[in-house]
Amino acid sequence: MTALRPEVADCDRDSGSVPGRAPEGTGLVQLHESIAALLASRGQWRQAYQHLRSAFDLVYADQDVQPQVPEQLRREVDRLRREHAEAREQSLRDSLTDSYNRRYLDQRLLDMVADHGSTADGLAIALIDLDWFKQVNDTFGHLLGDRVLQRVVELLQDGLPEDGFCARYGGEEFVLVLPGVTAVTGVEIAEAARMRVERHAWAALAPGLRVTVSIGLAYEPPAGDSPTRPPVAPDQQLLRADSLLYTAKQSGRNAVAYRENGRVRLAGAAAGRRAIAEPRVAGY
Ligand code: GH3
Ligand code: MG
Ligand code: MG
Repeated sequence: MTALRPEVADCDRDSGSVPGRAPEGTGLVQLHESIAALLASRGQWRQAYQHLRSAFDLVYADQDVQPQVPEQLRREVDRLRREHAEAREQSLRDSLTDSYNRRYLDQRLLDMVADHGSTADGLAIALIDLDWFKQVNDTFGHLLGDRVLQRVVELLQDGLPEDGFCARYGGEEFVLVLPGVTAVTGVEIAEAARMRVERHAWAALAPGLRVTVSIGLAYEPPAGDSPTRPPVAPDQQLLRADSLLYTAKQSGRNAVAYRENGRVRLAGAAAGRRAIAEPRVAGY
């Protein structure tokens, strides 16, 4: 790799600032930098890079004398930036399913704790676990099991709201984070995801294969809706989702368990035909 001069390499720092800023036109430059910082904090590295690039171009377009950066060096910096952005993006992805990974999930939940505004509109968190997945591996083999996990992620990600995302929590467990939805919409999204998995043409992957998921859905209402109650932080909310997932499993699997007015319920058709198991932790 070609060694870079320090002042050129500085352009690639995470701070998102551009060197040699001209005094005029800084508003637009700052705007690009702010957007870049925001996108970077969300892990949207490619878009963040585009905004930094625009800021950089604006700064140098304003100057009468263009900086003496050899073209080859500029290209090298560009390439390094691209590789850096791609590496950061990859470090936040699960290598098998290409969903976001646990690191990304933990960081986003921490960000949400720090930035109360991001949860002010309500937040639904669904914890999803494949049913009897060990049997799938035992019957059809681990490689087929891997393909099932990939397909399940595609089905879970289908139809997510704009700000929502799917992350692999670990093994055969996934999390859907759905900011800004109502309680009803959260349940609808989780139930629709469950049905997509149940109704998928799994036999095309392997004759006799069936796959279902159980889901625990924890909902935190908009801050203004219950001013007397302290808000539940997203990481705590995940624990509640875990407890509800346990209920969904104990209630026969292939179901979405959630709370409504303090009582645990099952979504969709399961609500009418099944008894609900006791929650593992009272109140959760
Ligand atoms: P339950 O309905 O209670 O969740 O039963 P289960 O069989 O799904 O749960 P269990 O925890 O007994 O088994 C989970 C299995 O998931 C065991 C493990 O080998 C498998 N698994 C975890 N990660 C992967 C993976 O990346 N690929 C494959 N093929 N299997 C995996
Ligand atoms: Mg599991
Ligand atoms: Mg399982």
